[in-house]
Amino acid sequence: MNKKNVLSVTIIGSLLLSVIIGGCLQGKTDIALLFSPLGTIYVNLIKMIMVPLVFTSLILGVSSISDVKKIGKMGIMTVIIFLFTTAFAVIIGLTLSNIFKPGLGVMMGGDTYEMKQFPSLTDTLVGIFPDNILGALLNANMLQIIFAAIVIGVSLVKVAPKGKVLHDCIEDIFETMIVITNGVMALTPIGILGLMIPTVAQNGVAVLLPLGKLILVFYLAVIIHMGFIYCTSIKCFSDFSIKEFFTGMLPAQVIAFVTCSSAAALPISMQRTQEKLGISKEVSGFVLPLGATINMDGNALYQGIVALFIAQVYGIEMSLTMQLMVILTGTLASIGAAGVPGAGMIVLSTVLVSVGLPVDGIAIVAGIDRVLDMGRTMINVTGDAMTACIVEKKINGRKI
Ligand code: ASP
Repeated sequence: MNKKNVLSVTIIGSLLLSVIIGGCLQGKTDIALLFSPLGTIYVNLIKMIMVPLVFTSLILGVSSISDVKKIGKMGIMTVIIFLFTTAFAVIIGLTLSNIFKPGLGVMMGGDTYEMKQFPSLTDTLVGIFPDNILGALLNANMLQIIFAAIVIGVSLVKVAPKGKVLHDCIEDIFETMIVITNGVMALTPIGILGLMIPTVAQNGVAVLLPLGKLILVFYLAVIIHMGFIYCTSIKCFSDFSIKEFFTGMLPAQVIAFVTCSSAAALPISMQRTQEKLGISKEVSGFVLPLGATINMDGNALYQGIVALFIAQVYGIEMSLTMQLMVILTGTLASIGAAGVPGAGMIVLSTVLVSVGLPVDGIAIVAGIDRVLDMGRTMINVTGDAMTACIVEKKINGRKI
């Protein structure tokens, strides 16, 4: 086995091992939870690298373009791809839910759900502009960090040749972060044990069975979105083969799956796209952090399926207008969701309110949210990487 594949194989091995151990520990959650500090340490290590990595990579990427028009073109293209794939995701979700009707025969009840406040579009837009760069960095506010890094990158070009020392210093920090990322990646199999054993032990068959059909329909949607939208886009609009893409991105996908956080998977995604797929720093450093914050195809799939599921449980007929409204709000609300565990459920409350469905319905799916979140996050991260592949071809037009 070549060295390149060792990590992928150990990651998959560790995933299987944690399913076995977690399965054996069902009903013994206290023992399973003994593994969770390993997962917490692993996620903390990733979060430690995230802000300096994104910040420095984006400054370097933008300052290496030096053509403001090119940055604008890259931004517009990225956002258009994000919007289209997100809208397709909600449509796939709605279609499958219409066909398979996973909500029929499900009894109401379940956990209680406390409605959380979802930021309005205006708040999200205003929130992009930081009043304090250090504050944005300290709070790991991704949109503000992206904005500050672009402004600094563009300005750095304007102070040349004087800014050389600062540029080199930023480059050194970036390279150091990549070295640390490699180190953290080597710990991934251990992190997976810590994250997955408690998850599997807590979400035993007894928890999953009543909503088994919903879970199956959701993962079918995941497969269709990945197999149809992503594979077709990669084949038609990028310079990569489907095999190259998925082999390159597998570790990032697994990390997204086990951490349920696009933000946590970001350093690994950046490292894989740059080092394994050979995508330029400027594109990867721009598209991926932006995608981790605003592009949530997995979330959109989930909105489409679960909104209709809840309507079915309550016996509410969803008109075409209501379904179109789900597509619109599902697409837009996904933009405002953060790349953290459970964000999709908060978005769902906005979607339900906008179409007049009972928000209490969230309580029915709350108990299995972790299981759906794993698939959502994996799709979210894959969609960002796919977009980076397409933008790379359009911006740099090179065969890698
Ligand atoms: N956990 C997802 C993510 O980090 C967001 C969501 O809940 O849909 O991408």
